[in-house]
Amino acid sequence: MLNRENVLTLYSDIFGSLIIFMRAINFLYDDSQQFWGLIARILWIANNVHKMKHPESMQAMVLEAYGTSLVLKQLNVPAPNNDQVLIKVTACGICRTDLHIIDGELPEAKFPLIPGHEIIGRVVACGSDAGSFKPGDIVGVPWLGYTCGTCKFCLQGRENLCDNAGFTGYTINGGFAEYTVADARFCFLLGTAYQGPENAPLLCAGLIGYRSYRMIRQSAKNIGIYGFGAAAHIITQIAKAEGKNIFAFTKRDDQEAQAFALRMGAAWAGESGDTPPERLDASMIFAPAGELVVKALGNTDKGGEVICGGIHMTDIPSFSYSILWQERSLRSVANLTRKDGADFFSSLKKLRVVTQTQFFKLADANTAINLLRTGKINGAAVLLMP
Ligand SMILES: [Zn+2]
Ligand SMILES: [Zn+2]
Repeated sequence: MLNRENVLTLYSDIFGSLIIFMRAINFLYDDSQQFWGLIARILWIANNVHKMKHPESMQAMVLEAYGTSLVLKQLNVPAPNNDQVLIKVTACGICRTDLHIIDGELPEAKFPLIPGHEIIGRVVACGSDAGSFKPGDIVGVPWLGYTCGTCKFCLQGRENLCDNAGFTGYTINGGFAEYTVADARFCFLLGTAYQGPENAPLLCAGLIGYRSYRMIRQSAKNIGIYGFGAAAHIITQIAKAEGKNIFAFTKRDDQEAQAFALRMGAAWAGESGDTPPERLDASMIFAPAGELVVKALGNTDKGGEVICGGIHMTDIPSFSYSILWQERSLRSVANLTRKDGADFFSSLKKLRVVTQTQFFKLADANTAINLLRTGKINGAAVLLMP
């Protein structure tokens, strides 16, 4: 039976054993700094062990085939391999690319698939080669989930074009789940200002928007943005801080999106068919409509860039060479490099970007996807995990 005397005896036994253990370790370690380092590590593990505990199963929204709704499933929590970290997901943004995947417009998805590539979460376990990450770190997981490091493009420092790349939420399971594993080399440690769930859209809309924006020459002043959603509202804030004038083009009669663009700092907002009050030095297109390429080229001045930021677009209608002539350029943006991520998060240290988000429960992912599809989300949709 456990009475006061027994408890005291038990405590004194534990305490005595601990002293003997510490003396033994101290004897083994001549160097007292090394000894106390070991003690600090034991105490740290004891203090963090509760944070590393996780259940065996989790909820996830799963895509089982193209053209179907996501299905809520109870799955095993994945175990990280040597290169991976296991992450307790706090939030995952919904990107237009997720719609293209669901609709079968991107043909290489794995099935069954957990979509989602704008992940913010807390590391709960680390593989043996997971770099400097440790349990408790708040990380972001982007679209680029793996590169081979040996193909022509990787060797040229253009890993966004890697022949053997893996993509989060497309060819690798993503973040529409309570837990996910991710290759630690492709995760970003998030600074305290950007750890909240509202920052999930930075992981794709922000990063791809930033890569698109950086393809425009520095001297460009008037920049058009076609399609004013998640990427546009983040990049507008960065561009404005750098002294650019943003001209926002939305769908016809979408006054709500135009008002949103003006609130985010655009100098002008109108419909995609409108002629802006000034010639554009460059344009970015984030809406997946091919005819916008022709419209953007038509409004862009000599020597200007038209950058297509999306992964998928409808066919581009034929157009007169005269709107490309005079050294206008037209190019697409594919994926991101880890350097893009480092540069982007470094630029965010000097500037506080505020995201506009609409939160949904994980189980309501299909509702959120449909609202995004019909243009009913101003800013970005983000799933919050249970
Ligand atoms: Zn490669
Ligand atoms: Zn995306």
